[in-house]
Formats: sequence, C-alpha cells, structure tokens
Amino acid sequence: MILDLLTTVIKPSEFGSVLKLKLSGLQNKTYPQPLRELAANVNDREFCYAALHKVSRSFAVVIQNLPGELQDAVCVFYLVLRGLDSIEDDMNIPLEKKLHLLRNFHQFSLQPGWNISNTGDKEDYRQLLESFQKVVSVYLRLKPSYRMVIDNITKQMGHGMADFAEKKVQTTADYDLYCHYVAGLVGIGLSGLFSASGFESALLEQQKTIANSMGLLLQKTNIVRDYFEDIESGRTFWPEQIWSCYAEKLEDYKHFPESKESLACLNHLVTDALQHVPDCIAYMKQIQHPKVFRFCAIPQVMAMATLAKIYNNPDVFRTNVKIRKGLAARLMLETNDLESLNYFLEKFTYKLMRKLNPADPNYLMTKKRLHRIIEAIDETKMRYTIAPDTTDNIEQSVLF
Ligand code: CA
Repeated sequence: MILDLLTTVIKPSEFGSVLKLKLSGLQNKTYPQPLRELAANVNDREFCYAALHKVSRSFAVVIQNLPGELQDAVCVFYLVLRGLDSIEDDMNIPLEKKLHLLRNFHQFSLQPGWNISNTGDKEDYRQLLESFQKVVSVYLRLKPSYRMVIDNITKQMGHGMADFAEKKVQTTADYDLYCHYVAGLVGIGLSGLFSASGFESALLEQQKTIANSMGLLLQKTNIVRDYFEDIESGRTFWPEQIWSCYAEKLEDYKHFPESKESLACLNHLVTDALQHVPDCIAYMKQIQHPKVFRFCAIPQVMAMATLAKIYNNPDVFRTNVKIRKGLAARLMLETNDLESLNYFLEKFTYKLMRKLNPADPNYLMTKKRLHRIIEAIDETKMRYTIAPDTTDNIEQSVLF
C-alpha cells in the first residue's frame, strides 16, 4: 500500500551523506529491543514512535518533521492503517476471519485494551498487533476531530480491502477503485487531519478528488514499478484490462522484457498513472505550511522521477528499478516549495517527452497527458506572478 512508498523509494541505505547528516540530527533514537519487550517498558506514546521506527524508519523521520500535534495524529493514523494492512497481507488467516477483522478493525482500534496475537505478515507487524492496546490508548487521547477522520478512513479502507480480498483487479475501474481504497483514502484522510490541525485551510479536506489523485499517483507508480518483485512473490496488481491487450499471460512479460508488446504495456500503465499529475499539482498549490508541503511533495516528486525512469525501460521486467540514490537525496533536500516542485516536475516531464516514440500505440495519449502536466505547472506560475489586490490586476492578467 501507499505507506510503503517512502520505505521503498527511500531506503536509509540509499541516503546520500549530506542527507544522512541532516537526518541524523533529527532522529537519533534507536530501539534495539524488540517491540514485544518495549511494550512492557515504555509508555504508550513512546511505544507508538518506537513501533513507527521499527516498521518504517524513513516514514518515522518524515512524520517527525510535521508541525506540532499533527505528529501524533499522523503517527496513530499510520499505525492503525499499518495494522489493517498487515491483516490484509497475512495469507494465513482463514478468509471468514480475515473479512471480519478487516470490516471491524476501525472499531477494534478504538476499543481500550484491544490487541490480537499471531496476526500479520511480518514479525514487526505481528508484534505491533500483539501490543495494539498501546496504539489504541494514544488514539483515544487524540482530539475528536482527528479521531473522526481516522475512524472514517479506517472503516472505508477495511471494507474496500474486504471487497477485494475475494476478487481480482480486472478492469481499469477496479484498478482505480482498489487504489482508492488503499491509497486514495490515505490522501483524503491526511487532508482531513491537515484541516483539523488548523495548519491548512478547512477547505482542503473537502477536495476529495484531488486528494484521492495524490494517493493514486503514488500507488500506481509503485504497482507499475514493482512488476518483477510482485510476480516473483506470486502477486499481481496490474489490471488485466490493460495487460491483456499485449500478452496472453501476465508472466509472459518477464520472458520478453525487450519486446515491443512488453514495452507498450508498460508505457500504457505509465500513461495511466500520468493522468493524476495535474490534480496533484492542484492539490500542492493549496498547501500553505512549509512542513506539510514537504511531507506531501517529496513522495510526489519521487513518483514522477520513477515514472520517467521506468517508461519504456525493459529492466522493469527483470529487476527492481529504483531511481539513483543521489537523485533521491537531492529531491528530498531540494523540494521545499511550489517553485522547486514545479522545477522537478517539469524536468521529469521533459525527460518523458524525450523518451516518446511515435511507434508506441499510446504515443498520442502519453504526449497529450505530458502537455497537460506542463499546462498545469504553467497555471500555477501565473497564479504566482499576478499580485492580488492591485489596481492594475486586469492589465497584468492581459499580459499573461
Ligand atoms: Ca496490502
């Protein structure tokens, strides 16, 4: 799910030295003991941050860079969704039990003392769920407006995961819906938390379509990029409606990485993901707090760099393609405001344009979407340049 994006795109081992230095000042704490031991020795809030550290070190750093009380709210939000996700991913739970857990997790996570043992697909996740009462206790202490957002999103996501536990992603509509459940809802929930914090406008949480697109861009980028990893572990997320245009079986692609069909399919999926970029730009344009801006913008710019790298790239079918460490570090350090975000988005859009080949079956659509991105970037620049409340506003806008 989307929560893995930062973990997989930015691994601590991939940080450049400058970045390591910068981050080490922010996060010195390490937790050598297993969560199970920590649960008995530290208070609930510390347990949450230790758990966050264990399950996603990079996300822990990013969350701790959020302003004030948003830290605890986003930390709890993350841990609750992590709990839900590890239930979804645990293939040893009998289906009936799993559906019950997924659909009711939003209630369990607000029940004082609730926990569950022997559940979860990784050891750290299992220990998190085993001591989940500590997360519940911090969750219950959050202010009601935060709790409402988290509860509502967890409920919708759990139901969506349950719906998809029994069916495959076939049509592009299924693909968009599944991505909405596991990622779009995270975007919508984060907007709700940002609005509730007062750091962002109350209007932000009402714009669900663009918040959904923020999640979809990240999730789809991951899904397209992770073809090889997923197929090796027996999972598939590529929508059949698209991949079946170019091959009989999804596994065929890994046998013919360089073939016209394989690359056409890959490019089709990249093009599908690109449709969400203009919405993401519209979303970012509204973010006011610099720390919230960085929190939202960095994954987006990483996703765009990844799409530019994987487009028409046969390596997607034989290995895990990642953006260069140096580039990842630069994006993390230098994406600070709308101007720098635009700069990088434009750069990767032009990189994609240079890779276009008129022989590709989706060439025209890809080209159209890339032009639309450039237009969306240009629109934000206009908004930037025209000074509000000046008498010669009309003259100025004519100039543009
Ligand atoms: Ca999952």
